[in-house]
Order: sequence, then structure tokens, then C-alpha cells
Amino acid sequence: MKHEFWFVVGTQYLYGTDVLEIVKTRAQEMAEKLSAVLPYPLVFKTLVKTNEEATDIVREANYHKECAGIVTWCHTFSPSKMWINGFASLQKPYCHLATQYNKEIPDEEIDMDFMNLNQAAHGDREHGFIAARLRMPRKIIAGHWEDEKVRERLGRWMRTAVGVSVSKEMKVMRFGDNMREVAVTEGDKVEVQKKLGWQVNTWAVGDLVKVFNAVTEEEIDELVAEYERLYDIATDNTASIRYQAKEEIAIRKMLDAEGCRAFTDTFQDLYGLKQLPGLATQHLMSLGYGFGGEGDWKVSAMMAVMKTMGENGCGASAFMEDYTYHFTGDDGYSLGAHMLEVCPSLAAGRPRIETHHLGIGMNEDDPARIVFEGKEGPAIVVSLIDMGGRLRLIVQDIEAVKPILPMPNLPVARVMWKAKPSLTVGVECWITAGGAHHTVLSYDVTAEMMKDFAEMMDIEYVHIGEDTTQEKLEEELMIKDIIWKLR
Ligand code: MN
Repeated sequence: MKHEFWFVVGTQYLYGTDVLEIVKTRAQEMAEKLSAVLPYPLVFKTLVKTNEEATDIVREANYHKECAGIVTWCHTFSPSKMWINGFASLQKPYCHLATQYNKEIPDEEIDMDFMNLNQAAHGDREHGFIAARLRMPRKIIAGHWEDEKVRERLGRWMRTAVGVSVSKEMKVMRFGDNMREVAVTEGDKVEVQKKLGWQVNTWAVGDLVKVFNAVTEEEIDELVAEYERLYDIATDNTASIRYQAKEEIAIRKMLDAEGCRAFTDTFQDLYGLKQLPGLATQHLMSLGYGFGGEGDWKVSAMMAVMKTMGENGCGASAFMEDYTYHFTGDDGYSLGAHMLEVCPSLAAGRPRIETHHLGIGMNEDDPARIVFEGKEGPAIVVSLIDMGGRLRLIVQDIEAVKPILPMPNLPVARVMWKAKPSLTVGVECWITAGGAHHTVLSYDVTAEMMKDFAEMMDIEYVHIGEDTTQEKLEEELMIKDIIWKLR
């Protein structure tokens, strides 16, 4: 679906109609110039001068499918009681852009007329008060609208708001249930649908097998040609690659038929399939479908949402699992992977397809999988957990590195990183917060975006970064526990 944002500018009649004309012309110019550089269009909608105008534009935004949020700004003073009725019913993400048309104060030119026209510093405070008074979730971005940093932040906020829009329509297809006895992959699907919009439902593996059996050789040829274009083939076992292609085609057909953008499977329930989907799942993930192993529908949906929040609406976000540590002195590294399913959007170079034995699960054949090293750079890992009565979103800053060991016998894609603030404190904090072993690892979604997402969705947010200490985190969690119980 296409997405756009609405630019709504506050003003009033006090300064005369000439001023209103100037405000409108400038607002149009700003919206056009910003639209040219932002990831989504910013459409100038209206000058709000009355209670009715504010209320009408919010009503329209609420019911407009493509409108993913509103951006407001007050060129002049806009008495904000006129915004109360509208804001009280706003259901879309909201950003207050605290900016002004001119960048600098013109020394010679400035007089009282200039002051009356260019008083955003004044108007934006009145506008900010009413949102604070109404306890509205909002993003505030201050700075000149032509400033690169302001544009980047507004762009990231837009991507986050689009994530919200996608989240509210997210459908997850589950093949089989959660892995037996696992706690952290469980959760209240009704609460999650209420808060995040996710529709999580199950389909039988037998249904998938039926679709699988109907896949034609021509369809498989076409997908294998796509694999050859994207990856190096490092195996003679073409039968296994073709088997995975057949699985991918069947899964995709079922997902698309139901409008699902995310799915799960479990190695404990492959009845009628000879291989756990590996390559199949990895290639689907690279196309933007979310995935969670062992029935983990929370991580699957979160991944699909975060993919859309990334570059070009299909970024470098992927299902990940903390596997093992490399303790070196005071610090060290985490090694992340999965038994097969790591998204090639994380790859540093051209990935290759290999086939290996997989002991876990009911595999009759050696499943084909994509193998690669993850790229270097700052990233985050994200875990959504159900605390009973509320959802907690945990985000940790990490620094991904080129894996410091070749690990030639490890038959899966691997990512290595340094956790913030350090491996041991990072692990202690992660465990204290209850973070899962499954995460979404992302190179292009930031912690600030996840904080905004949590605020837009009204869920708890916990951030572990450079300045986090165990003591501070425990105190924060204790306070949040009380706050969330009161809500
Ligand atoms: Mn797992």
C-alpha cells in the first residue's frame, strides 16, 4: 500500500488575510521541497484557524487509509484550545515539527510585521502545551526544515509511522505451534492484536503439503534461476535446492492468498515435508516476509514490521538468535545465527548456497541453506516479550563486526557483535529485562525509531545502550512495573 503524511499548519485570523496567504504559500513550498527528499510524501492539507477545521482534518486523517500520520507546525500563533477536540480523537501518529520558514533573523529587515508573521517560536509553544496537557503520544523535532539532520529525523519518524500502519494490518501464518515447553515465545495473542493489530492464526502443515505437491517443475526452474542470480551455488545437491524452492513457492502462495506478511514453522512439526525450510525461508525473508523459528510469531511479525521501517521499505532487519559467546578479557563477542534461517539482507558479501545434515527435527534430507558472514556496523537487537498484562519492547545497541574467526565447520550464516555497554554488562541487563534468545537484528532501524514505535503503540520500552548500568536498569524496571500496573 502507498503511504503519505499530512502537513497541517496552525495559524489564526488575527494577522489578516494577507498573512494567511503567505503562510499557505510557504507551507506548500515546504511540503513540496520536503517531499522531494523524504522517504514518503508530505502533503500540505490545510491551515487550521478554527476548532472545526482542526476536528475535520483529524477525522479525515483517521479514516484515510494511505495517511500514515500527521505533521503539524505553527507558522504564527495558533491559540490551541481550537485543537483540543481534534487532538482528542486523533488515532494516527503525530509529529510536531517545531521549525520556522526563515533560517536566520534578518538584521536590517526585522520589524514588528516580520515578528507577527514569523513567530513559530511563540506559536509552537502554545501548540506544544496542548499536546502535553492532553498527554498525547507525539514526536517533537526542532530545527530548521532545510537542515539535513532535521530531514533525516523526520524521515526516520515517517518510516516508524509506516511501521505502525503495517503493524495494524499484520497477519501472521503459523505452521504448527510453538516449540514444546518454550516460555518466551508464548504470549497473549488477543492483547497483541489489541495493541499492535497483529492477526495471528494457524494453518495445518498438511495444507502446506497439499499446495507443495501441486507446485510445477517450471515454477521451480524459475525460482532456482533467481537463486543462481543472487547466490553462489556451493553444492552438487541440486535436488535439495529444488526441494527448498518448491517449499518456498508453496509457502508464498499460502501467505499471499491470505494476505499474510509473516509466518512461523517449527522443526517439531514437519509432517509430510522432508526438509525444514531453510533456503526457502531465507529467500522469503529477503523479500520482506517476517519469520520466526520454533513457532515464534512475535519475532516474526516484529521482523516484518521492522523490514518495512528500513531502507526502501525492505531493509536489513532479520530474525536472529543469540547462540554462543567469545569471552576475551573484560569484553567479548556474541555469535548469532540460527539453525538455518538467517536473512541474506545481513550479508557482507555474496552469499552461497550449501547443503548439510541437520540433526534437529524431522529432516529426511540435508536442507539447502544460504551461508554468509554478517556485515559490520552499528546495529540493534530487539525483543518483544509478554510480561503478563503488558508487552515490553527491549532494544539493545550493538556493534556488529566481521567475525573474528573463520569457523569453517559452522554450516550456517553467522553474525558477530559486541553488545553495549559491554558483553557481560549487556548480557546481565538483557537477562534482567527478560529479553528473549530470539531477536530482530537491524542495521537500518535505530533505537530512537523503536522508542517512537513503542510510544505510538503504547507499550513498554526498555533500552540498553552505552550508558546503561545494571543498577540503573533495575531501578527503571521497578518503576515501570508500578507505572504499568496503574495504567
Ligand atoms: Mn531458535
